[in-house]
Amino acid sequence: MDSPITSIKGIGEKTATLFHRVGVHTVGELLSYYPRAYDIYEEPVTFANLKTEQVQAVTGFLRKTPNVTKGRRYAVTTAVLEEFGEYLHLTWFNMPFLKKTLSPGNTYIFRGRVQKKKGRLVMEQPEIYTPEVYGEKLNTMQPIYGLTAGLSNKTVSKAVKQALGTLTLNPEFLPESIRMEQQLAESNFALRTIHFPVKWEDMLLARKRLVFDEFFLFILSLRQIKESSEVRKNECPMKPVKETKQLLQALPYELTGAQKKVFGELQADLCAERVMSRLIQGDVGSGKTVVALLALVQAVYNGYQGALMAPTEVLARQHGQSIREMLEEAGLSVGVAVLTGSMSAKEKRLAYEEIESGRAGIVVGTHALIQEPVHFYRLGLVVTDEQHRFGVRQRETLAEKGLVPHVLVMSATPIPRTLAIILYGDLDISVLDELPANRLPIKNCVVDESYRPTAYRFMEKEIAAGRQAYVICAMVEDNPDLELENVVDYTEKLKSAMSASIHIEYLHGKMKAKEKNEIMERFAKGGIQVLVSTTVVEVGVNVPNATVMMVENAERFGLAQLHQLRGRVGRGKHQSYCIFVSGNDRPDTKKRLDILNQSNDGFYIAREDLKLRGPGDLFGIRQSGLLEFKIGDVFTDAVILQAASEEAAKLTKRDPALLEKENQELKKRLVSYQMAGTKGFSL
Ligand code: ADP
Ligand code: MG
Repeated sequence: MDSPITSIKGIGEKTATLFHRVGVHTVGELLSYYPRAYDIYEEPVTFANLKTEQVQAVTGFLRKTPNVTKGRRYAVTTAVLEEFGEYLHLTWFNMPFLKKTLSPGNTYIFRGRVQKKKGRLVMEQPEIYTPEVYGEKLNTMQPIYGLTAGLSNKTVSKAVKQALGTLTLNPEFLPESIRMEQQLAESNFALRTIHFPVKWEDMLLARKRLVFDEFFLFILSLRQIKESSEVRKNECPMKPVKETKQLLQALPYELTGAQKKVFGELQADLCAERVMSRLIQGDVGSGKTVVALLALVQAVYNGYQGALMAPTEVLARQHGQSIREMLEEAGLSVGVAVLTGSMSAKEKRLAYEEIESGRAGIVVGTHALIQEPVHFYRLGLVVTDEQHRFGVRQRETLAEKGLVPHVLVMSATPIPRTLAIILYGDLDISVLDELPANRLPIKNCVVDESYRPTAYRFMEKEIAAGRQAYVICAMVEDNPDLELENVVDYTEKLKSAMSASIHIEYLHGKMKAKEKNEIMERFAKGGIQVLVSTTVVEVGVNVPNATVMMVENAERFGLAQLHQLRGRVGRGKHQSYCIFVSGNDRPDTKKRLDILNQSNDGFYIAREDLKLRGPGDLFGIRQSGLLEFKIGDVFTDAVILQAASEEAAKLTKRDPALLEKENQELKKRLVSYQMAGTKGFSL
């Protein structure tokens, strides 16, 4: 399981690099790269029975050679099928060779999503089969994997098949009693079946088992951490200090009641007998950063160092910047060191030095900060922003370095308290349930593509008034298979559609960290007026002067993710606007997006989203990456989560150290799970 994927026959260095891009390095990781969905090859339907917006197959007799026209960007191949007076138009992009492969007089099976365009039934990019080949696929379930440019579904599927075929799989690791009680399938059956189910029911069984495993191992390691932290006494005791008041007085605003209350709780923790483990939950824009800074200042003036860790480099730099500013405003001279992956070796060395010598009182970095070869001078507090799964384990990593600092985790993901208690059982929870008073509620609208020109005019007006805007696209580069907007082309389009004096730039995850930082910093300073971006700006970015968030292909995103994106505006005193552009007019899309229209409250949105998706929705659009399990979904699989939590409790009561014979395999599995959880975070 731990061997690199290149050990699989047929995977060379080149393919391996593609796999690395989707986070798959080892055979084990490949096997837990579960399908996103399945393709079910159903009987072809008659044209009269075609339903729009569904993937279906038809049997088509080709009368004429397909027609190829060269467009500006792609060659378009078209063919028209006829059946009892009904017509179906087929189109393919960039596949002019079809003209030679598809011969008139032959019958093929075409399979794809049917759309209605200008009154015609159209199938775009249909798959093509001979009736014989389709016959073999009929009624089977084929896995669909998450892909990246260059990595095809076929490659992944073949690699998985190869790995499953040659691997001596692991022995069952769940105790018999738990499997019986919860009616769980055997673990290797589950692993095989999730990739290649023979029928739907088997897939459900497999999925249930894997979801259970994922939650169970997570909760079990949490409980172990909790046991050990409960007895941990506060080795970094603190006292209230006057400098926090000084900071408060220098702020241009007053703290909300909720911020005051939560800082009070932090203060009590830092001064208490036991070491602090606390989660602050607060919707986007509720003002978590300043609360964290107050705690960091308290640590510094008690003679400790404080560290703040963010999920992205962009965010880390931004935190560093705003913390420096706030400290300066308050006349507090605290050294702030920023440590990120794109810094040069020399810059890093300087930062290490400042940290080691204690000249830096506050250290800001990405989550890998604590794994860096950093020697802290006197680390007393670690704050983790916008990332929870890591938060629960980082204490162990630190403990290995001989450090027992206070731990504070901050999150905007709206999970209900009952779920939070299960998931973050080792943390006390504080809630920031109040937005700053100067905020005007964000105005939302859901529109179709025809609304674009109006939206652009609107943005120009906001920009003329000194504001800034984001436009979010689903993809980085052009991919003719998918009609999704991509940031690179979109930026060009936007430049020609908007007044030339407006400065437009793009930002995406594949850019070099340095470029990303540079663009983000220029945007923050107002040097860029429109930022066209992928969801890299989703988490935490704070540019209060930005008032318009326009999301293209909004149907492609989870509601929680859209809510996060929306949270990038409405962060200052100006009225802000969110424009969700839907790329299709399916009723379910409209219903989902309407939820965002109705409310700006993250909890409400999560609840309504769940109602709409329902527990039957197995592979719904992924929620924001913040609460990501590989296969389980804390909302729709809440019942399994509860069961896993109960079983974990029973087991730890009976056999806390997992010493009994029947728990040996489980113990092994738990150790490797914990190992996997702490590695792989790179700067
Ligand atoms: P989040 O909780 O999403 O991390 P931030 O901490 O980034 O939110 O705060 C968002 C914005 O609100 C920042 O510009 C911050 O300066 C401002 N802010 C924070 N607290 C208050 C407050 N009590 N009153 C007014 N503005 C505030
Ligand atoms: Mg934040």
